[in-house]
Amino acid sequence: MKIILMGAPGAGKGTHARFLSEKYDIPQIATGDIFRANLREKTPLGLEAKQYMDQGLLVPDELTTNMVLSRLQEEDCRNGYILDGFPRNLNQARALTEALAALGQEIDFVIHLEIEQDVILHRMEGRRVCERCGASYNLKSLPPRVEGVCDYCGGAVVQRPDDAPETVLKRLDVYHEQTAPILDYYRELGKEAQVDSGASIDEVRAALVAILGE
Ligand code: AMP
Repeated sequence: MKIILMGAPGAGKGTHARFLSEKYDIPQIATGDIFRANLREKTPLGLEAKQYMDQGLLVPDELTTNMVLSRLQEEDCRNGYILDGFPRNLNQARALTEALAALGQEIDFVIHLEIEQDVILHRMEGRRVCERCGASYNLKSLPPRVEGVCDYCGGAVVQRPDDAPETVLKRLDVYHEQTAPILDYYRELGKEAQVDSGASIDEVRAALVAILGE
């Protein structure tokens, strides 16, 4: 099962992608996490990506698309995957469609996690992530069991530098200008489904399973 999870920054893509990855036993491929992991290792890719991430801008398409397409060739993607944070503009969406078509494949589901902007801003204040494995938390609704420590890997749970309020606003602009138009692209391909991500985590999970199957 090949799934794309779409939604504005703070819509809950990371949280729900992790749940779906465990439920369906397919990898979560989160481009932001891959860039952050590269940055921790100070790879050339990570250092290049940082210049854009710090400003809330998209990393150039060629870099991003090549990175994702090569990740999709890995063995663990054989039975499917969840794309979290990719594609983020029409150019990336078309490149993905073409690369999959060349292999006789296609995306099965594109799920849009819909949410109001004021709910996003409220959530982003409390948002924290694990520095090591990228797991998402929220101080109000989903805190780690031990303060500052990841439930999954024991890494440090911190605020992302690009979750600072000014950068969040820039990222939301980029989302509306460049990413939201992809929804029409997938709607025309008959792939898009919507879930109200303002609901509770359990309700969103139930809605996702209703679309994807048990
Ligand atoms: P995220 O963790 O998904 O919020 O991504 C954090 C940052 O990584 C974004 O603000 C972008 O700078 C960069 N990024 C993640 N995914 C992409 C993508 N598909 N295309 C370009 N830049 C991306």
